[in-house]
Amino acid sequence: MQIIDGKEVAANLRKEIAAEVEQWVASGHRRPHLVAILVGNDGASQTYVGHKEKCCGEVGFRSTVLRLPEETTEESLLQEIARLNVDPEVDGFIVQLPLPKHISEQKVIEAIDPKKDVDGFHPVNTGRMISGLPAYLPATPDGILELLKYYKIETSGRHCVVIGRSNIVGRPIANLLSQKGWDCTVTLCHSRTKDLKDVVRSGDIVIAALGKAEFVTADMVKEGAVIVDVGITRVPSNKTKSGWKLLGDVKFDEVAPKCSYITPVPGGVGPMTIISLMKNTLKAARKEIYK
Ligand code: NAD
Repeated sequence: MQIIDGKEVAANLRKEIAAEVEQWVASGHRRPHLVAILVGNDGASQTYVGHKEKCCGEVGFRSTVLRLPEETTEESLLQEIARLNVDPEVDGFIVQLPLPKHISEQKVIEAIDPKKDVDGFHPVNTGRMISGLPAYLPATPDGILELLKYYKIETSGRHCVVIGRSNIVGRPIANLLSQKGWDCTVTLCHSRTKDLKDVVRSGDIVIAALGKAEFVTADMVKEGAVIVDVGITRVPSNKTKSGWKLLGDVKFDEVAPKCSYITPVPGGVGPMTIISLMKNTLKAARKEIYK
């Protein structure tokens, strides 16, 4: 059994991106610039945006965080987005989710110019991705693909079972792995799937993205399967200073001995997602997807 080390893969990719950025700047271009809009005071969102800002610095991007108060109206957020859409100094931007309840996330996502939508959530980018056209891929699915590539895990002709059908993880990774080049036979499971245990047990590759701590147990996993654990659930713990710890969707200790590869939580898929955002921002600066 091999543990998939997301931290190591992310560190290597970060170095590669940093080298490409220096080359880009040395050839006379402006430094890629990523803007993050953060509305309100959600603690987790502040942490995520902080990590993104730090990573921008590490790869040599310019980064700006626009912090807007909780009571920001939908209209003024949409105005901010309209301004960033046409700002020639901004290559890509993200609006950190979740947003306060009085703002429609869908309206906000659709207001972003697809050319600057480096989170890859705009329906134009989703549609292009599904059609196999160049697009900004959503970060978590792209991070999973990078891990599979790095560890040279065979996907062609293998049965991949994805648990969870969200727009940001389950659905896009199921679609991407079914495309040419990855060539998996994919089953997408969700809360209404019947005989889920049997379906998961038939998977050569299992991607767990349902958000239920330690849901996937050893009896659900085929011997030698590849296990990608996307889930992150915070649970109280008296063994850590912070008073909580993170659990994945897979019962790691009992599943790990049965499989060929497994991603730990934390340190598996998590570190990869910011890297994908950096990749998309560099693509935006180089106008690789949209001319
Ligand atoms: P979501 O809540 O939007 O979707 C969960 C999906 O799981 C739904 O489609 C639902 O049908 C399915 N589901 C729920 N219970 C089920 C059950 N008992 N059996 C089968 N399917 C079931 O979740 P999401 O946004 O995709 O996130 C999933 C998990 O991944 C969460 O823990 C989240 O924190 C984590 N996550 C991690 C990263 C990362 O960087 N590692 C990124 C995004 C999300």
